[in-house]
Amino acid sequence: METGTIHLVGAGPGSPDLLTLRAARLIETASLIVHDGLVDPSILAMARSDARLVSVAKQRSKHTLPQDEINALLVHEALAGRDVVRLKGGDPFVFGRGGEEMEAAQAAGVRVEIVPGISAANGAAAASGIALTHREDASIVSFVAGQCKGLSDQDWSGLAGVGRTLVIYMGVKTAPQIAEKLMADGLAPDMPIAVVENACRPEMRVLRGPLAGLPDLVMAEAVQSPALIIIGHVTARGDAAIAPLLLEATL
Ligand code: SAH
Repeated sequence: METGTIHLVGAGPGSPDLLTLRAARLIETASLIVHDGLVDPSILAMARSDARLVSVAKQRSKHTLPQDEINALLVHEALAGRDVVRLKGGDPFVFGRGGEEMEAAQAAGVRVEIVPGISAANGAAAASGIALTHREDASIVSFVAGQCKGLSDQDWSGLAGVGRTLVIYMGVKTAPQIAEKLMADGLAPDMPIAVVENACRPEMRVLRGPLAGLPDLVMAEAVQSPALIIIGHVTARGDAAIAPLLLEATL
Protein backbone atom coordinates (compact mmCIF):
# COMPACT_ATOMS: atom_id res chain seq x y z
CA MET A 1 0.00 0.00 0.00
CA GLU A 2 1.27 3.43 -0.89
CA THR A 3 1.74 6.01 1.82
CA GLY A 4 -0.47 9.10 1.55
CA THR A 5 0.71 12.70 1.30
CA ILE A 6 0.18 15.37 3.94
CA HIS A 7 -0.75 18.71 2.36
CA LEU A 8 -0.17 21.60 4.78
CA VAL A 9 -2.54 24.14 3.30
CA GLY A 10 -2.97 27.82 4.14
CA ALA A 11 -6.65 28.80 4.19
CA GLY A 12 -5.96 32.55 4.29
CA PRO A 13 -7.55 35.01 6.72
CA GLY A 14 -11.24 34.45 6.03
CA SER A 15 -13.07 34.76 2.75
CA PRO A 16 -12.74 31.83 0.29
CA ASP A 17 -11.92 34.46 -2.36
CA LEU A 18 -8.51 34.71 -0.76
CA LEU A 19 -7.56 31.04 -1.16
CA THR A 20 -4.89 30.11 -3.68
CA LEU A 21 -6.17 28.01 -6.58
CA ARG A 22 -4.03 25.13 -5.33
CA ALA A 23 -5.68 25.34 -1.88
CA ALA A 24 -9.17 25.49 -3.41
CA ARG A 25 -8.49 22.43 -5.59
CA LEU A 26 -7.18 20.43 -2.67
CA ILE A 27 -10.12 21.38 -0.43
CA GLU A 28 -12.66 20.51 -3.12
CA THR A 29 -11.18 17.08 -3.82
CA ALA A 30 -9.97 15.94 -0.37
CA SER A 31 -11.50 12.94 1.34
CA LEU A 32 -9.92 13.89 4.69
CA ILE A 33 -9.50 17.46 6.01
CA VAL A 34 -7.94 18.15 9.40
CA HIS A 35 -8.56 21.80 10.24
CA ASP A 36 -8.15 24.28 13.03
CA GLY A 37 -10.60 26.78 14.45
CA LEU A 38 -9.52 29.79 12.41
CA VAL A 39 -10.66 28.28 9.12
CA ASP A 40 -13.81 30.04 7.98
CA PRO A 41 -16.94 27.82 7.75
CA SER A 42 -17.49 29.04 4.18
CA ILE A 43 -14.17 27.43 3.24
CA LEU A 44 -15.04 24.13 4.94
CA ALA A 45 -18.31 24.23 3.01
CA MET A 46 -16.29 23.79 -0.19
CA ALA A 47 -15.36 20.24 0.81
CA ARG A 48 -16.97 17.20 -0.81
CA SER A 49 -20.16 16.15 0.95
CA ASP A 50 -18.59 12.76 1.75
CA ALA A 51 -15.29 14.23 3.00
CA ARG A 52 -14.28 13.50 6.58
CA LEU A 53 -13.72 16.79 8.44
CA VAL A 54 -11.73 16.59 11.67
CA SER A 55 -11.45 19.70 13.86
CA VAL A 56 -8.40 20.08 16.06
CA ALA A 57 -9.46 23.60 17.09
CA LYS A 58 -7.22 25.40 19.53
CA GLN A 59 -8.18 28.23 21.79
CA ARG A 60 -5.75 30.22 23.85
CA SER A 61 -4.69 28.08 26.85
CA LYS A 62 -7.26 25.44 25.87
CA HIS A 63 -5.86 22.94 23.43
CA THR A 64 -8.49 20.53 22.19
CA LEU A 65 -5.76 18.29 20.77
CA PRO A 66 -2.14 18.72 21.89
CA GLN A 67 0.28 19.36 19.04
CA ASP A 68 2.02 15.98 19.29
CA GLU A 69 -1.36 14.26 18.96
CA ILE A 70 -2.14 16.32 15.87
CA ASN A 71 1.23 15.31 14.41
CA ALA A 72 0.51 11.66 15.26
CA LEU A 73 -2.96 11.82 13.69
CA LEU A 74 -1.63 13.26 10.43
CA VAL A 75 1.17 10.70 10.22
CA HIS A 76 -1.14 7.81 11.14
CA GLU A 77 -3.61 8.68 8.37
CA ALA A 78 -0.85 9.09 5.79
CA LEU A 79 0.80 5.79 6.75
CA ALA A 80 -2.62 4.14 6.35
CA GLY A 81 -2.51 5.26 2.73
CA ARG A 82 -4.75 8.32 2.95
CA ASP A 83 -3.94 11.78 1.60
CA VAL A 84 -4.53 14.40 4.28
CA VAL A 85 -5.35 18.06 3.75
CA ARG A 86 -4.20 19.83 6.89
CA LEU A 87 -5.98 23.16 6.67
CA LYS A 88 -4.75 26.12 8.69
CA GLY A 89 -5.79 29.75 9.00
CA GLY A 90 -3.53 32.19 7.16
CA ASP A 91 -0.19 30.74 6.12
CA PRO A 92 1.01 27.40 7.53
CA PHE A 93 4.51 28.74 8.18
CA VAL A 94 3.52 31.95 10.01
CA PHE A 95 2.71 31.08 13.64
CA GLY A 96 0.88 28.04 12.32
CA ARG A 97 3.09 25.22 13.65
CA GLY A 98 3.43 24.06 10.07
CA GLY A 99 7.14 23.58 10.67
CA GLU A 100 6.47 21.10 13.46
CA GLU A 101 3.97 19.15 11.38
CA MET A 102 6.31 19.07 8.40
CA GLU A 103 9.14 17.73 10.58
CA ALA A 104 6.88 15.05 12.10
CA ALA A 105 5.90 13.92 8.61
CA GLN A 106 9.48 13.88 7.41
CA ALA A 107 10.60 11.90 10.47
CA ALA A 108 7.98 9.26 9.59
CA GLY A 109 9.05 9.22 5.94
CA VAL A 110 5.76 10.75 4.78
CA ARG A 111 5.68 13.10 1.78
CA VAL A 112 4.63 16.66 2.60
CA GLU A 113 3.44 19.49 0.41
CA ILE A 114 3.22 23.07 1.70
CA VAL A 115 0.61 25.35 0.13
CA PRO A 116 1.12 28.97 1.21
CA GLY A 117 -1.78 31.14 2.30
CA ILE A 118 -2.39 34.83 2.81
CA SER A 119 -1.28 35.49 6.36
CA ALA A 120 -3.46 37.59 8.67
CA ALA A 121 -1.01 40.50 8.43
CA ASN A 122 -1.35 40.69 4.66
CA GLY A 123 -5.10 40.19 4.75
CA ALA A 124 -5.59 42.81 7.49
CA ALA A 125 -3.40 45.30 5.66
CA ALA A 126 -5.36 44.94 2.43
CA ALA A 127 -8.78 45.01 4.06
CA SER A 128 -8.03 48.01 6.28
CA GLY A 129 -6.08 50.08 3.76
CA ILE A 130 -3.00 50.07 5.99
CA ALA A 131 0.07 49.64 3.76
CA LEU A 132 2.63 47.72 5.85
CA THR A 133 5.45 49.48 4.05
CA HIS A 134 5.34 52.97 2.64
CA ARG A 135 8.23 54.97 1.24
CA GLU A 136 7.43 57.83 3.59
CA ASP A 137 6.81 55.80 6.72
CA ALA A 138 8.21 52.28 6.92
CA SER A 139 10.78 50.15 5.17
CA ILE A 140 10.95 47.40 7.79
CA VAL A 141 8.11 45.07 8.82
CA SER A 142 8.25 42.54 11.64
CA PHE A 143 5.77 39.88 12.68
CA VAL A 144 5.82 38.86 16.35
CA ALA A 145 3.74 36.58 18.55
CA GLY A 146 2.31 38.42 21.55
CA GLN A 147 0.93 35.58 23.62
CA CYS A 148 1.69 35.38 27.33
CA LYS A 149 4.30 32.67 27.44
CA GLY A 150 7.75 34.22 27.45
CA LEU A 151 6.51 37.67 26.45
CA SER A 152 8.67 39.52 28.94
CA ASP A 153 11.76 37.52 27.89
CA GLN A 154 11.39 38.38 24.23
CA ASP A 155 13.67 41.09 22.92
CA TRP A 156 11.56 43.39 20.77
CA SER A 157 13.93 46.33 20.93
CA GLY A 158 14.26 47.97 17.55
CA LEU A 159 11.26 46.18 16.03
CA ALA A 160 8.92 49.17 16.34
CA GLY A 161 9.44 52.89 15.98
CA VAL A 162 10.03 55.50 13.32
CA GLY A 163 10.41 53.87 9.89
CA ARG A 164 9.15 50.49 11.10
CA THR A 165 5.90 48.55 11.23
CA LEU A 166 5.34 45.91 13.88
CA VAL A 167 2.51 43.41 13.43
CA ILE A 168 1.56 41.49 16.55
CA TYR A 169 -0.31 38.19 16.27
CA MET A 170 -2.11 36.69 19.29
CA GLY A 171 -1.73 39.90 21.28
CA VAL A 172 -5.28 40.78 22.36
CA LYS A 173 -5.06 39.32 25.86
CA THR A 174 -1.61 40.77 26.50
CA ALA A 175 -2.24 44.23 24.98
CA PRO A 176 -1.50 46.04 28.28
CA GLN A 177 1.87 44.29 28.71
CA ILE A 178 2.67 44.87 25.04
CA ALA A 179 2.02 48.62 25.26
CA GLU A 180 4.07 48.81 28.45
CA LYS A 181 6.94 46.81 26.95
CA LEU A 182 7.12 48.98 23.83
CA MET A 183 6.99 52.25 25.77
CA ALA A 184 9.68 50.96 28.14
CA ASP A 185 11.75 50.33 25.01
CA GLY A 186 11.42 54.03 24.17
CA LEU A 187 8.43 54.16 21.85
CA ALA A 188 6.47 57.42 22.06
CA PRO A 189 3.10 57.06 23.84
CA ASP A 190 1.47 58.81 20.87
CA MET A 191 2.88 56.35 18.29
CA PRO A 192 -0.13 55.46 16.10
CA ILE A 193 -1.52 51.93 16.36
CA ALA A 194 -4.38 50.00 14.82
CA VAL A 195 -6.23 46.89 15.91
CA VAL A 196 -7.76 44.83 13.10
CA GLU A 197 -10.31 42.33 14.36
CA ASN A 198 -11.74 39.62 12.08
CA ALA A 199 -9.80 40.85 9.06
CA CYS A 200 -11.30 39.83 5.70
CA ARG A 201 -14.57 38.74 7.28
CA PRO A 202 -17.89 40.59 7.10
CA GLU A 203 -17.69 41.49 10.79
CA MET A 204 -14.24 43.11 10.48
CA ARG A 205 -13.45 46.10 12.72
CA VAL A 206 -10.52 48.49 12.41
CA LEU A 207 -9.77 50.52 15.52
CA ARG A 208 -7.10 53.20 15.69
CA GLY A 209 -5.47 55.25 18.43
CA PRO A 210 -2.20 56.06 20.16
CA LEU A 211 0.00 53.34 21.68
CA ALA A 212 -0.64 54.55 25.24
CA GLY A 213 -4.38 54.06 24.68
CA LEU A 214 -4.07 50.48 23.38
CA PRO A 215 -5.11 48.71 26.64
CA ASP A 216 -8.18 50.94 27.05
CA LEU A 217 -9.11 50.61 23.38
CA VAL A 218 -9.02 46.80 23.57
CA MET A 219 -11.03 46.85 26.78
CA ALA A 220 -13.59 49.51 25.82
CA GLU A 221 -14.25 47.96 22.41
CA ALA A 222 -14.22 44.40 23.82
CA VAL A 223 -11.82 43.28 21.09
CA GLN A 224 -11.95 39.53 20.54
CA SER A 225 -9.54 37.10 18.93
CA PRO A 226 -8.70 36.84 16.09
CA ALA A 227 -7.21 40.28 15.95
CA LEU A 228 -3.90 41.84 15.00
CA ILE A 229 -2.25 44.84 16.56
CA ILE A 230 -0.28 47.00 14.12
CA ILE A 231 2.16 49.54 15.51
CA GLY A 232 3.66 52.33 13.44
CA HIS A 233 3.06 55.51 11.49
CA VAL A 234 1.59 53.58 8.55
CA THR A 235 -1.54 52.99 10.66
CA ALA A 236 -2.26 56.73 10.64
CA ARG A 237 -2.39 56.77 6.84
CA GLY A 238 -4.82 54.86 4.69
CA ASP A 239 -8.49 55.28 4.08
CA ALA A 240 -10.99 52.98 5.73
CA ALA A 241 -13.34 53.60 2.80
CA ILE A 242 -11.48 51.03 0.69
CA ALA A 243 -12.27 48.17 3.07
CA PRO A 244 -15.77 47.19 1.93
CA LEU A 245 -14.57 46.48 -1.60
CA LEU A 246 -12.79 43.37 -0.50
CA LEU A 247 -15.61 42.21 1.72
CA GLU A 248 -18.24 42.67 -0.96
CA ALA A 249 -16.30 40.68 -3.54
CA THR A 250 -18.60 38.16 -5.12
CA LEU A 251 -17.80 35.21 -7.34
N1 SAH B 1 -1.08 31.06 10.51
C1 SAH B 1 -1.91 32.22 10.80
C2 SAH B 1 -1.67 32.76 12.20
C3 SAH B 1 -2.08 31.83 13.30
S1 SAH B 1 -1.83 32.51 14.89
C4 SAH B 1 -1.64 33.30 9.75
O1 SAH B 1 -0.70 33.18 8.96
O2 SAH B 1 -2.42 34.26 9.72
C5 SAH B 1 -3.44 33.14 15.27
C6 SAH B 1 -3.44 34.64 15.26
O3 SAH B 1 -3.48 35.12 13.92
C7 SAH B 1 -4.66 35.25 15.92
O4 SAH B 1 -4.51 35.31 17.32
C8 SAH B 1 -4.67 36.63 15.29
O5 SAH B 1 -3.71 37.47 15.91
C9 SAH B 1 -4.19 36.35 13.89
N2 SAH B 1 -5.32 36.21 12.95
C10 SAH B 1 -5.66 35.11 12.26
N3 SAH B 1 -6.73 35.36 11.46
C11 SAH B 1 -7.05 36.65 11.65
C12 SAH B 1 -8.05 37.52 11.11
N4 SAH B 1 -8.95 37.09 10.23
N5 SAH B 1 -8.08 38.80 11.55
C13 SAH B 1 -7.18 39.26 12.43
N6 SAH B 1 -6.22 38.49 12.97
C14 SAH B 1 -6.15 37.21 12.59
